[in-house]
Amino acid sequence: MALALQTFPTVEDAGAALKAAGTRYLGGGTLVVRAANEGDVSISGFIRSTEPALSIIRISGGEVRIGASVTMAAIARHPDLAPLAHAARAVGGPAIRNMATVGGNLFAPTPYGDFTVALLALDATVTTDYGELPIETFLAKRESNHAIVTAVGFTLPKEGGFRFLKQSRVKPKGVAVLSIATVLEQAQDGTVTSARIALGCMADRPIRARAAEKALIGRKLTADGIAPALAVAHDGTSPPTDPIASAWYRNEVLPVHLGRLLLA
Ligand SMILES: Cc1cc2nc3c(=O)[nH]c(=O)nc-3n(C[C@H](O)[C@H](O)[C@H](O)COP(=O)(O)OP(=O)(O)OC[C@H]3O[C@@H](n4cnc5c(N)ncnc54)[C@H](O)[C@@H]3O)c2cc1C
Repeated sequence: MALALQTFPTVEDAGAALKAAGTRYLGGGTLVVRAANEGDVSISGFIRSTEPALSIIRISGGEVRIGASVTMAAIARHPDLAPLAHAARAVGGPAIRNMATVGGNLFAPTPYGDFTVALLALDATVTTDYGELPIETFLAKRESNHAIVTAVGFTLPKEGGFRFLKQSRVKPKGVAVLSIATVLEQAQDGTVTSARIALGCMADRPIRARAAEKALIGRKLTADGIAPALAVAHDGTSPPTDPIASAWYRNEVLPVHLGRLLLA
């Protein structure tokens, strides 16, 4: 069956066209075109928009806004987004990163979605053609989303405040066993004053490790200080068993990798 591709100069027009049954928004196409090629008959056509704002990275006064069509490669090479380069480079190999968009990554099912893990730790907002949502709210309801994501926004973390780790079995571009991102703030004496920890591959979508976050407050990033957080790291997780790793294995290695990231 032939698949139609319709391109619109504005998000508004693309959004109107997306109301037709069987249409899907096209980001970089690394997932959705593959799904169509592999026989997903629910897809009858693709819609995309070339509105310039979708492809722009804007940074002003520490506030970052990344258009939904911006690719992982563009993020990885942006000089002012150096703290996030590692997370953007965690997505596939160079060919995938040249296509894979921020917008598409928000919808990528586990074991994908590495950059979204970073965005969740950064407490990003997701803007659609209907308005702005906290990323957690967006992720919880992403299956029912029919809007076009236009941008993500977040505050640049303080220097050294953002950490990211992806564990995979095939280096350097394998799919994740798990990924972890943290945004921590510490007092002058090193005591943790605020913590956000996001996990990838520990559920069907990126989630926060809330119990571990809570257990870190008031502690220092030493082996003893982080021990209570590691003990509760898998509270609320429900990792999948897939060809990459079993659920049991993911739960076993989570505290090991979280510990390494916190002590790094
Ligand atoms: C070989 C290979 C390796 C990969 N490795 C990784 C990896 O290591 N880590 C990782 O995270 N991912 C990986 N991926 C998955 C994928 O490439 C990325 O998650 C990518 O960011 C998806 O973005 P995309 O623009 O290609 O999405 P698309 O395929 O274009 O779209 C994916 C879904 O999101 C929807 N969508 C896209 N953009 C928007 C928007 N702006 N508004 C509303 N809906 C939208 C589409 O309709 C579709 O349902 C890999 C894929 C392949 C094929």
